[in-house]
Amino acid sequence: VILLRDIQQGDYTFDKYKFDSLIVARNLLGTSFDKHAQRILNCANSLQMRVCDDGHLRLSQAIFCRVRCCPLCSWRRSQAWRGRILKVLPFLVAQTNTRVFIFATFTVRSPLLSELRLALAKMLRAFRNMTLARNNDWQADGYVRALEISRGKVPGYCHPHFHCILRMRSDYQSMPHDQWVKMWRKFLRVDYDPSVRINFIRDLKSSIPEIFKYVCKFTDLRDPEFCIAYMTACENMRFISLGGYFSQLLKSDEDLDQSDLIRSGLDEFLYGGDNFVKFSWFRESELSYEGNVVWAYQTG
Ligand SMILES: [Zn+2]
Repeated sequence: VILLRDIQQGDYTFDKYKFDSLIVARNLLGTSFDKHAQRILNCANSLQMRVCDDGHLRLSQAIFCRVRCCPLCSWRRSQAWRGRILKVLPFLVAQTNTRVFIFATFTVRSPLLSELRLALAKMLRAFRNMTLARNNDWQADGYVRALEISRGKVPGYCHPHFHCILRMRSDYQSMPHDQWVKMWRKFLRVDYDPSVRINFIRDLKSSIPEIFKYVCKFTDLRDPEFCIAYMTACENMRFISLGGYFSQLLKSDEDLDQSDLIRSGLDEFLYGGDNFVKFSWFRESELSYEGNVVWAYQTG
């Protein structure tokens, strides 16, 4: 028996995310999300890997469950987005002499888990209205927006927020921080000052791909209460969305399909090779490995 992680030079990534997804599935089994749990349990149970000319194995076939909170799918999704943006990065870098790019985080006061869905609806509406504002408040002509939801510091609460990359208009005039807060507050229609963080991006190369790591932390999804609230609020929700310039620049803002999750942004033709190896996830028959009982992707 050959384990995937042994051939991949000790790379545990596939095993780790698959294992995380089993924990999430367990939280959902027997709840109203039982069907989703079943799908997650079957997520990428077998992987066909191409033995590439450079000696590495790269995924060439798998069936992903595409359930919103599946850690394995989320990992592939964020990799695919990363790949997309890296392809257009030179265009963006070329603009940095004339254009300002900003990394912005828009937050709301932590809602109760039971009110997460409502809070998200409000945030999405506020953001949309803000980007459509006709006055000089909103000076960006394009954005990439990632939604992150983490567990709140207080049990029973959670912390939804948007991380955004904004390309500012060519006539952008620097805006003081309190004006950003005022603007977000106005569109949220709240009676407190919500937190907004604004940072000028100096190095697009390292900053831009960073935004795609902002998805839910899987350690948060280990908590059954949070996991169920997250599923209730986020089913069918889009976590990455593009507006203005960025929606023209990148392929589309439609959800990623199976082939996007498989390629994860890599151009497979760069890594030719005609040999394939198939790995299966053994969750029912455990195998003994170095004295420990492990579940792993293994040949066969
Ligand atoms: Zn999945």
